[in-house]
Amino acid sequence: MRRTSFSGFSSFSRSTFPLRCIASATGISRRSFADRFQIGRVFIIGDGAHRHTPFGGLGLNSGIQDAHNLCWKLALTLKGKASASLPETYEAERRPVVTRNAEWSLFALANHPTVMASMGIVAGAAPEFNEQMIKNLLADTLDGASRRARMNEVIETQRCEYGPHDLEMGFQYRQGALVDDETPWPTRDPMGADYTPSTRPGCRLAHAWLRAMNRRFLLMICCRWRILIAHRS
Ligand SMILES: Cc1cc2nc3c(=O)[nH]c(=O)nc-3n(C[C@H](O)[C@H](O)[C@H](O)COP(=O)(O)OP(=O)(O)OC[C@H]3O[C@@H](n4cnc5c(N)ncnc54)[C@H](O)[C@@H]3O)c2cc1C
Repeated sequence: MRRTSFSGFSSFSRSTFPLRCIASATGISRRSFADRFQIGRVFIIGDGAHRHTPFGGLGLNSGIQDAHNLCWKLALTLKGKASASLPETYEAERRPVVTRNAEWSLFALANHPTVMASMGIVAGAAPEFNEQMIKNLLADTLDGASRRARMNEVIETQRCEYGPHDLEMGFQYRQGALVDDETPWPTRDPMGADYTPSTRPGCRLAHAWLRAMNRRFLLMICCRWRILIAHRS
């Protein structure tokens, strides 16, 4: 299940919208983590627990997943239906996932020079050279068309940043609050794009969109015997 295709980029690259650089700044791209995500009754979620660069758009995704992971555990514990050891699985489950997301973000950033190179831009070259490269890229000629076609193919590889569906939904909790049924784990896409839905314990609950009676239904398959259906009118 892949989300994005980048064929539309050619319309942007041929735009005549006037661009002007007003200012530029340099910064350091890095990741950082709290030493512990739980101290006694205090839990840390979101950027307070883990911060990384925005490439891949995984920061808030990670924070919401943290909240989701913790909320149901706290609710069951506070209702007396689970022991206090249940929320303690929060860090064991979330730390590997957010570590992977942070690595992924830096990985996506590291690919940017390749994308720039696909446009013909050379870091550190004279501005006139790079300006000429952009003119060549946008030229309404066979040469320009070839340059744009090649650029679009390279940009497609950047789906690891623009469409990391497998990072967003395919994360796996291999240790923590799960009853392991020892079925095989779904495969992960090394490009981070193709997400394989699975009902295996430790995976995000699989879902599918169905349409019937002019309504859109969300089908969630839960374990082997429970099916949850919600509708959106
Ligand atoms: C340029 C950019 C683009 C991004 N794009 C994406 C994206 O596409 N997708 C994505 O998932 N993520 C993205 N992110 C990351 C995302 O914005 C963050 O991961 C997310 O906002 C973190 O949410 P949070 O609630 O944990 O922390 P924050 O949003 O930082 O919220 C913390 C809040 O606490 C408040 N606060 C701090 N100290 C105190 C205090 N002592 N008392 C009271 N209040 C306090 C702060 O003012 C703030 O309002 C992007 C980030 C940046 C910088």
